Amino acid sequence: MKQIVILGGGVCGRSVAEKLSVHINPKSITLVSEHAYYVKPFGEYFALQSKENSLELSHAKQEYALSYEKFASRLGINFLLRQAERIDFSSRVVFLRGKRVGFDYLVSCLGSAKESLGPAQYAMPMHSLVDALRVRNSVEFAIEQSSRSIKPHPVRIVVVGGGMRGVETIIALRELVKFICSKNGFSQGCVELVLLEAEGRLLHTYTAQSSEAMEQYIYRLGVNVQYYSEVTNVSESCITLKDGYTLMADVVIWAASSSGQKIDAEPDLSLSNSGRLLVNKKFQVRPYTNVFSIGDQAAPPFPHRLHTVENAEAEAQYVANIIPALMQNKRIISYTPLPKRSVTPLARNVALYIGRNFSSIGMLPDYYYRARQWLRAL
Ligand SMILES: Cc1cc2nc3c(=O)[nH]c(=O)nc-3n(C[C@H](O)[C@H](O)[C@H](O)COP(=O)(O)OP(=O)(O)OC[C@H]3O[C@@H](n4cnc5c(N)ncnc54)[C@H](O)[C@@H]3O)c2cc1C
Repeated sequence: MKQIVILGGGVCGRSVAEKLSVHINPKSITLVSEHAYYVKPFGEYFALQSKENSLELSHAKQEYALSYEKFASRLGINFLLRQAERIDFSSRVVFLRGKRVGFDYLVSCLGSAKESLGPAQYAMPMHSLVDALRVRNSVEFAIEQSSRSIKPHPVRIVVVGGGMRGVETIIALRELVKFICSKNGFSQGCVELVLLEAEGRLLHTYTAQSSEAMEQYIYRLGVNVQYYSEVTNVSESCITLKDGYTLMADVVIWAASSSGQKIDAEPDLSLSNSGRLLVNKKFQVRPYTNVFSIGDQAAPPFPHRLHTVENAEAEAQYVANIIPALMQNKRIISYTPLPKRSVTPLARNVALYIGRNFSSIGMLPDYYYRARQWLRAL
């Protein structure tokens, strides 16, 4: 029985496992994840803006996450709770922390690098449920501290990065601030939300129309957006920009772009300029026809490919279809990228629709997103 190992239990890892288990013997599939649970889509943002009085990790997990053990036993696949450390291509072995597994086919989907904390330890990341709770606590602490002082001072919360991650974070923060201010009897007007973007527009890797729609939406939320503001350093309470300008801040959240997650390999793997694994149009890691990389970790030769859940799932579907075909020595055709149309949920009941010539944000795109999810599930 040919062994298939899937590294990473994010969007791609789960999708590949789920789809492959339909085509081939599930017992030949091993999913490796460094976490025991996975966060449901946008769970971090829902946790960030939750109206719970003191949200504990255990409660957040129950609400916004699902266990891999249950997922694996439902599919009948093997699950290993380990961190992948190294791949040896000549002996077809993956070294996990404290264990090694052999493979005939390997799908690496380790996502984006987590060390994208930015230029300083004081900038908080927004990568996981734990990060979301940490940001939540810091915002709550800053507002409570000010509201309890004899002379309350304005609170400034800064998000670095105006990409999808940054705008989602600021939208969720707006809700959180509303909730915490009303709980503490603190004026919302005394909390300033600042979004720093290094380029001249938000969502700069998306269409100009989507940037415009996003800018209008963010403006209506009362967020102070500052363009051409590349952050070079963050200290305990001060942010320094490339042009030397400094900005005081009570809470800083790092949501700027990152590179692909790295893994040691023997022999070395070729990486793109942004540190992602170079793959061909079939997502194969050259020169190996049995090794694939998809999702945020991979750099296929498709211009303007976005790192979105929709693309990640489509790539997972493609790889799950071609592995069984390869096993039967069938010819496989290259992947056809999705059209540049997408719909992305941003917050509860709010989504962004990106079309060729038109973009929109609000409840309608959210209905459209849900309708599409529902149709796909049929
Ligand atoms: C904060 C944030 C917000 C986003 N918002 C949106 C959005 O609104 N809309 C949208 O469409 N897309 C969004 N994206 C992008 C989208 O989530 C990604 O494109 C998608 O998750 C990519 O899937 P993936 O499987 O490649 O990576 P991931 O889903 O990130 O999964 C990678 C997994 O690999 C695991 N891993 C990493 N290293 C190891 C190791 N050595 N051993 C074992 N496991 C390991 C990680 O823990 C993780 O679980 C967002 C991404 C982030 C980070």
